[in-house]
Amino acid sequence: MPQQLKHLMRLGTHGEKKYFKDFKEYYDAVIINASMIAHTVNSMSTFLGCELSKPFIIDPQTYAFQSYTHLLQQSKNKKDISDVKVKKSFCTLIENYGEMLKKIIFDEKRSIKSSDFKNDDNQNLKDFCKNVLKYQLETITSETQNNSEYSEYIEYEIENCKGNLSLTLVPAFLIAPYFYMTPNTYSDWIDINIDAINISKELNSKDIEIYAQIVIDKDILLDDSKIEELCDKYNSSSAEGFLIWLDKFDEKEVSEIYLEKFINFLKLLKCNGKPIYQVYGSYFSIVLTKNILSGVCHGMEYGENRDVYPVGGGIPVSKFYYPALHKRLLYRDALDLLLRNGYLEDLEVYNSNVCNCKNCQEIINTPIEDFSKYGDVNSTTFKRKSGNRESTVTMDYPTNDAKDLCLRHYLYNKITEYKYVESKSYSDCAEDLIQSYNKYYDYLGDNVDYLKTWHNIILKI
Ligand SMILES: [Zn+2]
Repeated sequence: MPQQLKHLMRLGTHGEKKYFKDFKEYYDAVIINASMIAHTVNSMSTFLGCELSKPFIIDPQTYAFQSYTHLLQQSKNKKDISDVKVKKSFCTLIENYGEMLKKIIFDEKRSIKSSDFKNDDNQNLKDFCKNVLKYQLETITSETQNNSEYSEYIEYEIENCKGNLSLTLVPAFLIAPYFYMTPNTYSDWIDINIDAINISKELNSKDIEIYAQIVIDKDILLDDSKIEELCDKYNSSSAEGFLIWLDKFDEKEVSEIYLEKFINFLKLLKCNGKPIYQVYGSYFSIVLTKNILSGVCHGMEYGENRDVYPVGGGIPVSKFYYPALHKRLLYRDALDLLLRNGYLEDLEVYNSNVCNCKNCQEIINTPIEDFSKYGDVNSTTFKRKSGNRESTVTMDYPTNDAKDLCLRHYLYNKITEYKYVESKSYSDCAEDLIQSYNKYYDYLGDNVDYLKTWHNIILKI
């Protein structure tokens, strides 16, 4: 891999593309789900290959086929209950991933099982690896060359680049097919995961590295012998680097023991010195980029943790990323905190105590008036009937401007976090955390206990 990819961002929706362009100079690489590319291959190829041209990584999402029900979506026509289908984005992906998967998902309508791969010569797994790698490697290149408005320009560039192509048409590295493991399913999947890496490495004739994505339930961390065996197996595989995704692992929520075991796990996995990326991480993981993790990925305000099989979203609310807490607070809670501390009294107090990011510099002149730009809402009133009673309900939704400002403020702060960690020692980082804890404990109570936990753990590294 040519350059260090420390600050990674995950593209989740088409609406987010503009932020990836606006902040282009500040982050190192983009992670994107294969299903999103499959769904809108033409526009995604143009965006990744030509418009953005930053290093990118495609997550092949092979774990998704372990849960058939999570692949389904209900028809828009709610009256037609017979019409439950596999999501369109996944249909395209399944077509690309080969006959075995098509048969299981489309014909047999079931989840993939470890026994599907247990045939004599490993042929099913070999075919699957071949298709999954091919998809990552070729989709953007072939689509941009064939169907993009830039196709002539790309052909010209490729012919004349003399090995120094300014376009980014292939991923920074490929990810071998991978499957999710819990303490109960670990023994079913571990060897398939390892075989998938080794087969992928053998199949891959190109000069591009093969990484392993390790997706596990956080409870595996607590089982020392399993973790030892797991690290041993992955370290002996031909993986050239690792991506880590821990299920139900919010670094701000889990207890101290999990974070401690997480560090142990990373240290064991790092014994060969191969790069490790945390694919859904908060500031805690960013601190680990000092010398344990090579990089950390986050999304556009969300994605500092993610469940493997998430359950629906909530109502959108404005949240303000509070820099000293490394956490998003509900706008009204942030406002309350600022008012009680007198941080909205004047600009200097706001800048030195709350935030001095580019976005705040642009929009905040008189804090007591301007801070509300982060919390602007539109109200919608509607009538709700329950039995014979009818009531009027009013809901507030953040305005598009407020959403945009909250996100820009968040992204500037993320950039600062990566840079800050780079220039400080572990003990400096730990000291900051405990200072914030002491400063805000009276106001926020146990809601900030993670700052103290992080402090304790980081001091021990
Ligand atoms: Zn700010």
